[in-house]
Amino acid sequence: MAYDSNNVFARILRGEIPCDKVYEDDHVLAFRDIRPHAKVHVLLIPKGAYVSLEDFSGKASEAEIVAFHRAIPKISEKVGIAVTGYRAIANSGADSHQEVPHYHLHLLGGQRLGPLLSLS
Ligand code: AMP
Repeated sequence: MAYDSNNVFARILRGEIPCDKVYEDDHVLAFRDIRPHAKVHVLLIPKGAYVSLEDFSGKASEAEIVAFHRAIPKISEKVGIAVTGYRAIANSGADSHQEVPHYHLHLLGGQRLGPLLSLS
């Protein structure tokens, strides 16, 4: 799938749409999900143009991949879920119901989350 530079997260990165920013560095941006599925729901995105986890994992540089993962404990600490725990979810592609075609990792916590999946 080709990268669509008008997707909502690309527009957030360009400053065209506001976001509730939690963390930013040279490679990543993290902000609160606009429709949270838990008391704490943060999205972590790379600044590079990657469609999905599949795309990011295959094509991103080692510096981008390291920065992305090193950001996670900084974010979890900042939003208060490092100790209590959280779930990280990355939807990738059609079967996953990925809606925004810019790679993002959901970080969900602040409450007991229950079982991993309910298929319907
Ligand atoms: P996914 O289904 O994995 O692609 O998740 C996309 C997520 O992006 C959803 O949880 C949306 O609520 C969230 N989202 C969409 N637009 C925005 C926005 N402008 N700011 C913050 N989160 C957003």
